[in-house]
Amino acid sequence: MRIVVLAGGIGGARFLRGLKAAAPDADVTVIGNTGDDIHLFGLKVCPDLDTVMYTLGGGINEEQGWGRTDETFRVKEELAAYGVGPDWFGLGDRDFATHIVRTQMLSAGYPLSAVTEALCARWKPGVRLLPMSDDRVETHVAVDDEGERRAIHFQEYWVRLRASVPAHAVVPVGADQAKPAPGVLEAIAEADVVLFPPSNPVVSIGTILAVPGIREAIADAGVPVVGLSPIVGDAPVRGMADKVLAAVGVESTAAAVAQHYGSGLLDGWLVDSVDEAAVAEVEAAGIRCRAVPLMMTDVDATAAMVREALALAEEVRA
Ligand code: GDP
Ligand code: CA
Repeated sequence: MRIVVLAGGIGGARFLRGLKAAAPDADVTVIGNTGDDIHLFGLKVCPDLDTVMYTLGGGINEEQGWGRTDETFRVKEELAAYGVGPDWFGLGDRDFATHIVRTQMLSAGYPLSAVTEALCARWKPGVRLLPMSDDRVETHVAVDDEGERRAIHFQEYWVRLRASVPAHAVVPVGADQAKPAPGVLEAIAEADVVLFPPSNPVVSIGTILAVPGIREAIADAGVPVVGLSPIVGDAPVRGMADKVLAAVGVESTAAAVAQHYGSGLLDGWLVDSVDEAAVAEVEAAGIRCRAVPLMMTDVDATAAMVREALALAEEVRA
């Protein structure tokens, strides 16, 4: 079975680990969000691609959910001693090597998709990991700063400000001019099922869908598209997705997120058991819906979620 998954960072990566356990023989293509990418210290950092690569490759810091295991921060300390910032973005010594290799290859003229493939040759994630685009896309967030509206990089909003100020708009700068990376549209066209893991609907999956051609290819593929809610009991399970949902005028409920994607895109939607009451509303919107446990507490629990998603896909296919 050929499965295409649109993925952000932590939510996407953990879901993919469950997918590999539930469907070990599936041919999985991951379309990764690159709207979170940022240039730091002259290096190109791709947080979501790296989170997927490290998680599936066994190099992730498990407690944190991002960054390398057994990490040290000597380079960061030395940069701070020079007074060189930013100091709010955590880059460890091991992680730095990834960004150095990536930047070196990009400078030599390789596209991000080729660079990602080269990095994955070491990590062997067991999936085909594609950036959504080889073109530069950077998510910016409009905030009020000392009485003035200003657009800041998503990482500054998320990591430095911890989403503590209202977001007035979320804009994937460059997305409208971006082309899907090589292999993205082909993978969607050849897929048997498309899955939206419980990734951030705005700044992860929303950004991928903002690359012209991707949303259309999924809607036109004629295969089941099934998503899993990142919102459980009217709040994000982890992180601050409610803040960016508010910026696009979507309530932080499992039903509202399903309707935000819409029945033109989604065929099936899983909500957590605690949101059982949302099922009728989602189905009334034309999206087949089931309530099942959706907490990715361990690989077994996550694999069970994947099996539910694949079962729902077969149900809508029939
Ligand atoms: P990021 O790029 O690291 O922010 O990661 P993603 O966009 O892939 O995923 C973030 C989303 O995952 C958040 O909105 C969380 O609510 C959601 N999430 C994290 N853990 C779980 C879980 O165990 N269950 C569910 N349903 N959602 C989760
Ligand atoms: Ca992310």
